[in-house]
Amino acid sequence: MTEQNRNDPCRCESGKKYKKCCMQKNEPFFMIQNASQYPIEKCFINANWKESGLANILVVRKNIEIDKYLFGMFLVDLYCLGVKNVFFNAKLDWNAIQHGIIDYVQEGMVDMDYEECRGLILGAIDFAKKIGFVPHEDWEKAKEFVEPQKPYKTKYKFGKNGKPFYVAGPDDDVEEIIKILGVKGAFVRSFTD
Ligand SMILES: [Zn+2]
Repeated sequence: MTEQNRNDPCRCESGKKYKKCCMQKNEPFFMIQNASQYPIEKCFINANWKESGLANILVVRKNIEIDKYLFGMFLVDLYCLGVKNVFFNAKLDWNAIQHGIIDYVQEGMVDMDYEECRGLILGAIDFAKKIGFVPHEDWEKAKEFVEPQKPYKTKYKFGKNGKPFYVAGPDDDVEEIIKILGVKGAFVRSFTD
């Protein structure tokens, strides 16, 4: 289905005009805040996530009513920091998802089951919290993509050999991170410095 015109009677048969009724539900801001209402279309993860300990997880949902997609992309440090960055957008065509986002991760993306994705994201957040790290500030805006209030399961063992293992990234506040990390885990300076 395509989107209705603003002044048409709303398709939901409320008797109101579309702009006074369901149109609001099809605005990007609403869609992202209520992401869990939309069915999962596909989830992806970077192919080398296990070796690198760094996961780019893409959760794509579909607004069936207007035939558009919304996505949440979570950059997750599985060894230490948890959710390091968050990107999201809504009301996109499938083409935009395909080219704009999947191409962005150069190592290539592979399919992953939604529940596995949730487990990695929410598990990494919990692991990081125990060390003293909170998720990126934009997590709050996009968290509905992975229904954080629902229980999750994961077989993945966070950290390296169960311990926090911090690899310094180019945009990190390394001093602050080391202060929080303290003696709880190992620290290595990455080659990107
Ligand atoms: Zn309506």
